[in-house]
Amino acid sequence: MKGMLVIISGPSGSGKGTVVQKLDPERNYALSISVTTRLPRESEVEGRDYFFRTPERFARMREENELLEHAVYCGHYYGTPRYYVEEQIEKGKAVVLEIEVNGALQVREKFQETVLIFLMPPTLEELSRRLIQRNTEEAGVIEDRLRRAREEIKLVEKYDYLVINDKVDDAVNCINTIVEAEFLKPPRNRDAILHFKGQ
Ligand code: 5GP
Repeated sequence: MKGMLVIISGPSGSGKGTVVQKLDPERNYALSISVTTRLPRESEVEGRDYFFRTPERFARMREENELLEHAVYCGHYYGTPRYYVEEQIEKGKAVVLEIEVNGALQVREKFQETVLIFLMPPTLEELSRRLIQRNTEEAGVIEDRLRRAREEIKLVEKYDYLVINDKVDDAVNCINTIVEAEFLKPPRNRDAILHFKGQ
């Protein structure tokens, strides 16, 4: 059984990072680490949170077709390294991409069977509160991210699942359930079906 791509999108402050870190590795997940041209935040570590690269290096990766998808978000480039994703899919993993909506839709174009999950904060007020409390961005950047959040939420209907992140553990359970169910779909179990058909 081959693996699958699981995309988790949602506005900045919806808690994607926290939720993704809590996905149980025992359950066959592999987490993709993106490349970005934005500067690291104080708590971020190269190779754990992102691969931080210059715009020139990022452009070269794009030209050399090393990225599965890429997008601009609030003035910075972000992209998914292709090699790791392909390798983990081959191993049968559920490869989790925590990426914004334009990148997500690019991946869906290329791979129809990608699972798209949208993580929502309970309310816009709560989103704003989380962004301010997180204190990783300046006021202008927060405004920019809130504007972007309202834009992204408009695309929610292009996703397969909507998970409200009120309590982190509940959101994690929902995602585990979605992924378990997706692995049970007949098109992902062709070998078992062929076996019973005697082929
Ligand atoms: P942040 O700067 O808060 O880490 O990320 C900003 C946005 O970029 C988030 O919505 C995040 O999911 C998205 N993002 C992170 N990595 C990638 C990527 O590789 N590709 C795309 N398209 N978006 C990404």
